[in-house]
Amino acid sequence: MIDVEDLQQRMASLGKRRGFFSPSYEIYGGLAGFYDYGPLGTALKDNILALMKRIYVVENGLLSIDTPVITPHEVFESSGHVSEFTDFLTMCKQCGSSYRGDHLLEGLVHNPDALGKKELADALKDTEVKCPSCGGELGEPHPFNLMFQTHIGPGAASRKGYLRPETAQGIFINFQYLLTLNRGKIPMGVFQVGKGFRNEISPRQGVIRVREFDMAEAEIFFHPDKKEWPGFDAYKDMPVNLLPAKGDTISTNFGDAVKNNLILNEALAYFMAITKRILISCGLDGERLRFRQHERDEMAHYAQDCWDAEALLSYGWVELVGIADRSAYDLKQHQKGSGREMTVLDPYDEPVEMEVTRVIPVMKKLGPLFGKNAKHISHLIETMDVNELTKPLKITFEGNSITIPDDAYEIKSGMETIMGKQYIPHVVEPSYGIGRIFYAIMEHCYGESDGYVTLKFPAEMAPVKVGVFPLMDRDGMGERADQISALLRELRYSTRMDNSGSIGRRYARMDEIGTPFCVTVDYDTLKDDTVTIRERDSKMQIRIHLDDLPDVLKGLFSFKTLDEYGEPLRPAGSSTDE
Ligand code: AMP
Repeated sequence: MIDVEDLQQRMASLGKRRGFFSPSYEIYGGLAGFYDYGPLGTALKDNILALMKRIYVVENGLLSIDTPVITPHEVFESSGHVSEFTDFLTMCKQCGSSYRGDHLLEGLVHNPDALGKKELADALKDTEVKCPSCGGELGEPHPFNLMFQTHIGPGAASRKGYLRPETAQGIFINFQYLLTLNRGKIPMGVFQVGKGFRNEISPRQGVIRVREFDMAEAEIFFHPDKKEWPGFDAYKDMPVNLLPAKGDTISTNFGDAVKNNLILNEALAYFMAITKRILISCGLDGERLRFRQHERDEMAHYAQDCWDAEALLSYGWVELVGIADRSAYDLKQHQKGSGREMTVLDPYDEPVEMEVTRVIPVMKKLGPLFGKNAKHISHLIETMDVNELTKPLKITFEGNSITIPDDAYEIKSGMETIMGKQYIPHVVEPSYGIGRIFYAIMEHCYGESDGYVTLKFPAEMAPVKVGVFPLMDRDGMGERADQISALLRELRYSTRMDNSGSIGRRYARMDEIGTPFCVTVDYDTLKDDTVTIRERDSKMQIRIHLDDLPDVLKGLFSFKTLDEYGEPLRPAGSSTDE
C-alpha cells in the first residue's frame, strides 16, 4: 500500500517525467497556481473533453458554444461576481503570509467554507489558529475578490473587465439568441468548454487548486414546473452513493433518490447520472465516488439544491463537479442589468382576451433626463411588474439605483389578446473542473506492484492507443513497424514507436503511460505478416495476421478483450515479456 504523501509525490514525478503535467514557468523560478500539461497530459485532457462533448452535444443535443474569456464589468456586476465572488483572506501580522481563512480551519470546525465574515473571525479566534509559516498572530479576515481585473482597450476609452471565473455567463447573456437558434424550444441545454481564471489566495494540492484551469459547463433551461429531461428512465437504476446535507452516506439509485425526495427533481438527477457515467467512463473508481449535497448555508441563496460529485483522492474527498439547480437567478439578473428580456412564452391553448395593466415609459421626459441611456432605461421600466412598483419609482441601472420622476411613466390598463404567459426559465448547471478530473483519473488508474507502474486508463482515455515495437531495428523490421504505425494512424489510433531496450522494458514504458495495446514486429512478421499483440491489463499476448489488426483493435476499443481473438502465446502474466 502506497502512503498518501508518497502517492502525491509519485504523481508529481510521473507527471513531469512522462509529460502529463508539471509546474509552469520553472525556468523563471515558477509561479504558484499555474500548471503546464505536456504532450501526454494534453492528449488525456483532449480525450476527457471529447467524451464530454460526445455525451452532452452529440447524445443529448446540447448546443455547443464558445464565448470570450475577457468579459466587461457589467456582466459580472449583474451576475453578482463583483460583489460576491470572494474568499476570506487573513494575513499573518508577523511575516505577512496570506491564507484563506477557511482553509486554516479545516478539520477544526464543521464546514468552514460556509462561514460568513464574523463567524470566520470568531472561529479563528476560538481555535487560536496561528500562522502555519511562522506561528505569528493572524489578522482579521476580509473578503478578497477572486477575479483577475484587466483594462480593455487603451486610454480614456478603456473599459474595466475581468478574465472570466467561469464559462457560464457567456451562455446566460446569449440566452435569447440561443433560444431563437433552438427554435424557441424549452428545455434547452447549452454547453461550453474553456478556461476559467480565479486569483486563488492559496493555490495548493497541485492541479487541484490553481489560478487558471479548464472548465466544461452546461446550462440547461427549464420551465420552472417541468424540470425533466428525456431519457431519465435509462438512468433510474444506476447506483449512486449520496451524502445528503443531513445524515450519512446512502447507497441508492437515481430513480429512488428522486422518488424519496433526496434529489430535488428529475432534471438534477439526470445530470448527476450523466456526470457519474462520464466519471466512470474516464476511469474513476465507482467505489471512490460520491455526491455530497450542499448544506443550506453553503449554497448560494438563490440555489434550490446543489450536489458536488466528489472523488476520494490522496487529498481526501475532492469536489470534481458541482451540479446545482440555480432557479431563475442568472437570467433575472441579466434581464435587470441589460434591460433585455430573458423570458419565454408559455402559450395558452387558446388566446385569451383580458384586461392588462402596464407601465408605459414617457420618452419625451426620459430622453432629456438620461440621454443615450434613455432607451435602455425605458425598456427597464416597461418590463417592470406592476405589482412591484414603488413610489417614487426606483430602478437599478448599471449597478446604481435611479429614481424615475412620476411624470416619466404612466400606468395604463386596457383589453389585450394574450397568447400565453411569459416566464423566466430555471437553470440546472453541471460545472466540471477538467484539471481535477484529470488528476483523479491519474490517481484512480495508478497501480504499482513491486515498483512496476501501470496506469490503467480506459482505452478511450489513453493518450497513446497502440505502442509499436520492432523486435530489433534491423533487417527491415524497423521499416515494417513504421508502416504499421502509419496504417494505425490512418485509422486514427495514436501510436508511439519504441525501438530501444528489451521488449520487456518497452512494455513497462507503455504500461507506465497507460497504453492499452502494443504490437511487436519480429522476424516472423517479415515472413508471414503476423504480429504479436499484447494487452496491458491482462498482459496476454496473441499472434494475429496483420490483415486482422484493424478489426481486432476495433473490437478491443469496443470493450472486447484479447482472449476473444486467439490463444495466448504463453500463460498470461508470465514474466516472459523480455
Ligand atoms: P464552482 O463554479 O466553484 O462550483 O467550480 C466548478 C468546478 O471547477 C469545481 O467543481 C472544480 O472542479 C473546478 N474548480 C474550481 N476552482 C478551481 C481551482 N481553483 N482550480 C482547479 N479547479 C477548480
